[in-house]
Amino acid sequence: MHFNILTIFPEMFPGTLGGGVVGRAMARGLWSYDAINIRDFAYNNYGSVDDEQFGGGAGMVMRADVLGDAIDSIKNPGKIIYFSPRGPRLDQKMVREFAAVPDATYTLLCGRYEGIDQRIIDEYDIMELSIGDYILSGGEIAAQVLIDSCVRVMDNVLGGGNDATQNESFEIGGLEWPLYTRPSAWRGRNVPEVLLSGHHGNIERWRKQQSDEITKERRPDLIKEK
Ligand code: SAH
Repeated sequence: MHFNILTIFPEMFPGTLGGGVVGRAMARGLWSYDAINIRDFAYNNYGSVDDEQFGGGAGMVMRADVLGDAIDSIKNPGKIIYFSPRGPRLDQKMVREFAAVPDATYTLLCGRYEGIDQRIIDEYDIMELSIGDYILSGGEIAAQVLIDSCVRVMDNVLGGGNDATQNESFEIGGLEWPLYTRPSAWRGRNVPEVLLSGHHGNIERWRKQQSDEITKERRPDLIKEK
């Protein structure tokens, strides 16, 4: 997978994506990115990329001419995504769809200020994508969320094979069961007996039942989705 990232803060990348399993996957060539500085396409010497809103109101808007030139500089933009609270909310199903094509290219447009000129969205048939119902100060964290979640479901990224990504919250039609590791006794709290029994059938039943209970209590909406 390749990501072209349009941002006024290219130094924010790879950021969190440089560490852990996702960082290792980048080092192994499973994914790559180019961070393109939108300021390089500014029309004046100050590197201005934004201007006041037509119609008035507080806050600046990123200019269509500057952004258009930045997008046009990319040889193979692939699907273009603009991070925006107005878009559909990213979920694990969408992550799977984005990650389904391992050699896909995505261009990720990170907004700042109040957002971008609408004509950019119309001109390039851009998909808007939100990472949740709250307002960030820019799209860079959203880009890292999308890349992280897509890369970790790619083949051969996580140890433990596909099992590791399939036995997780949202993938199993609900939330994950409680997890335990050594020591088996800690501060008077014991690991549930069934997990130490070695009886795979019972363990699986226990996990399923725990997962169902937790999902029913915390996220009944996920059960309806099933
Ligand atoms: N005025 C906008 C918010 C602008 S926040 C509105 O009311 O909808 C500045 C930038 O941060 C946005 O252009 C977008 O790229 C990014 N951003 C903010 N919240 C986001 C979210 N929930 N998901 C994805 N991107 C977000």
